[in-house]
Amino acid sequence: MNENGTVVVARDVMRRYGEGQTAVDALRGVSVDVPQGRLTAVMGPSGSGKSTLMHILAGLDKPTSGSVKVAGTEITTLKDADLTKLRRNNIGFVFQFFNLLPMLTAEENIRLPLSIAGEKPDPAFFDELVSSVGLSDRLSHRPSELSGGQQQRVAIARALVSRPEVVFADEPTGNLDSKTGSEILELLRHSVEDMGQTIVMVTHEARAAVIADRVLYLADGLIVRELTGATQHEIGATMEEIGA
Ligand code: ADP
Repeated sequence: MNENGTVVVARDVMRRYGEGQTAVDALRGVSVDVPQGRLTAVMGPSGSGKSTLMHILAGLDKPTSGSVKVAGTEITTLKDADLTKLRRNNIGFVFQFFNLLPMLTAEENIRLPLSIAGEKPDPAFFDELVSSVGLSDRLSHRPSELSGGQQQRVAIARALVSRPEVVFADEPTGNLDSKTGSEILELLRHSVEDMGQTIVMVTHEARAAVIADRVLYLADGLIVRELTGATQHEIGATMEEIGA
């Protein structure tokens, strides 16, 4: 974390895909501060640059220009090995399609970010984490033996196990029915309230974004609106306004 309680700081981020006449400017100068212990949602129409922004903030892609600091480190100029290390130590991921390793059990999947680094979670913390995501009796199951909601719980526990500075969640309820999706959103909110987790969540669903402390709207590669403490109705209405 930076001294001012901001985990991710992006300044004037531009990302151009391709060159010449066919070049696409996916981000055209985005600046964003992600405050510690808060849930920030990123919304916007398809093609507005949400995935591109998330990948750049998470160090999975580099901007064409601009600055991104994660936990105080400028990541746009890091060497690959250092970036991998920074991601491993500071960033957790939750994806729409869970991205669990099929041959590993739930427990092995959850432990994976630490086992890759040759580390083990504190046993008390691990038990608490597993119980908080409701997986205590599912640890020996493989992903194929779990429901979608259970697989996403495993993915959330995996994202939280290293107590990362920030978790990026990309449409975490996009592949779940609405009841299961609500349970997953509750879990994400719980990790913010009870563990002080910082989360950035990309979503196009107002019912998901309503759990956020702050909603940023992207349109055509720029942040065009920002809502704080908004209702689901306000979030949906703003989505319509910006043309989603
Ligand atoms: P969103 O996540 O909001 O749907 P994206 O970040 O995926 O938006 O895309 C933003 C813009 O950049 C779109 O016009 C998209 O077509 C373009 N784009 C995304 N990825 C690539 C790529 N790898 N190559 C070329 N254009 C891309």
